[in-house]
Amino acid sequence: MVTKDFKERIEELKKKKDAFIIAHYYQRHEIQEVADFIGDSLELSKKAAQIKNNLIVFCGVYFMAEIAKILAPHKKVLIPYKKAGCLLADMAEVRELREKKKEFPDAKVIAYVNTYAEIKAEADIICTSANAGKIIEKLDADKIIFLPDKNLGTYYSQFTKKKIILWNGYCPVHQRITLESIKRVKEKVKNALVIVHPECPPEVTKIADFVGSTSQLVRYVKNSQAKRFIVGTEEGTVFKMKKEAPEKEFFLPDPIPTCDQMKMITPERLIKALEEEIYEIEIDPQISEKAKISIERMF
Ligand code: SF4
Repeated sequence: MVTKDFKERIEELKKKKDAFIIAHYYQRHEIQEVADFIGDSLELSKKAAQIKNNLIVFCGVYFMAEIAKILAPHKKVLIPYKKAGCLLADMAEVRELREKKKEFPDAKVIAYVNTYAEIKAEADIICTSANAGKIIEKLDADKIIFLPDKNLGTYYSQFTKKKIILWNGYCPVHQRITLESIKRVKEKVKNALVIVHPECPPEVTKIADFVGSTSQLVRYVKNSQAKRFIVGTEEGTVFKMKKEAPEKEFFLPDPIPTCDQMKMITPERLIKALEEEIYEIEIDPQISEKAKISIERMF
């Protein structure tokens, strides 16, 4: 629930500081309410490059704020809480990637957007969950090191003849969306379509009626004839779904998938970030430049 005071204070600070707030779909509802733009990783990265304001406050996890800084290096980019990391991004480090590249010298590297700048700088190209299939096909290589999400890599490898070398990483939030967690809800809710994110385990994507990135899931519920959906992704997404399709019903797996890292961005921390202009994202310019090439290749 957004209080009037919070909303007014944010508006005041946005004007005073010439700030633009971007938020990921997984953010708390209060944060989504005051954001100037809400989207998934792909939409947010595109948006970051177009923002005219001098100050960008990125309400999401650290790697996302890094992308904004890479694409808009002359802007001041803040994240309201520095420790809001991504557990999936933490599962890949540069030293290991370099070793993997040595092991497979004829392979090219696709890094999922959920990686830190150093990994992006080492990759040939970046992908998101919305475009991973296309990027795999278009990349000029028959062998691909795909990191860090093994579930996403497994999902897209079924649509290609290329050899996909998987990384042993996963998103703990989506990994907890099991067949049982969906079945428990299905037993209570009749005539609901199961729609899930490709970061979910293969046994879950296999039984789903639709698999797509967060923005694709939102579009799907809006355009579908169905009225009820069991949504296999982070719970914050349902906030946007309810806005886009208020006449439809949404149900989450049991237990509810929640990303605690995303929820570290609180209204209090957002106000403090704007007031004190903390925490500023800084990236080594050489790494930033290399990472930018990999991101722009994706576009
Ligand atoms: S939901 Fe998973 S992939 Fe997304 S930010 Fe949280 S830990 Fe990272």
